[in-house]
Amino acid sequence: MNTEKKEPTESTESTEKTDIKFMKAALKQAEKAIAIGEVPIGAVIVCEGKIIARGYNRRNTDKTTLAHAEIACIRKACKKTGDWRLEGCTLYCTLEPCQMCAGAIIQSRIDRVVIGTTSPKSGCGGTLLNILQNPDFNHQADVRYGILREECTEILQRFFKDLRKRNKERKKMLRMQAAPQSET
Ligand SMILES: [Zn+2]
Repeated sequence: MNTEKKEPTESTESTEKTDIKFMKAALKQAEKAIAIGEVPIGAVIVCEGKIIARGYNRRNTDKTTLAHAEIACIRKACKKTGDWRLEGCTLYCTLEPCQMCAGAIIQSRIDRVVIGTTSPKSGCGGTLLNILQNPDFNHQADVRYGILREECTEILQRFFKDLRKRNKERKKMLRMQAAPQSET
């Protein structure tokens, strides 16, 4: 029957749709980071088709490098499932995980990682290192790149553009305050 022939295409399409849906949820988390002045990086963990944990970057707010979005998500997911093993889970992250997060992903046995955009300065999902798929470790994750890449890149670009603008304005203000007032 030709329905059998169709199946792989349909399942790929539905995976794509599902990935987009959950990456949108990760982007929502990134927006939360922007709202508190943090670099916008968001993540969610999905298990059996449901989001079981959400997280966003709070490094400056919490004053710890451990406050990355993925680590926050892993903590919450473990609390929720009552298990350090997150087998069968998929982690969606707007930015490619760093060495710490990629390490935690592999340590927690997450099966699949869906990445929005790559990180040229700290990416350990294949850009600088591929911790997620090193065959020498006892666990490897399936990795999918480029889901909502434009949106995930745009939110970071917007943040850094605004930051540069704010810094410029601050410098200008400081210069004005330092200058003797000549106007009457
Ligand atoms: Zn990280």
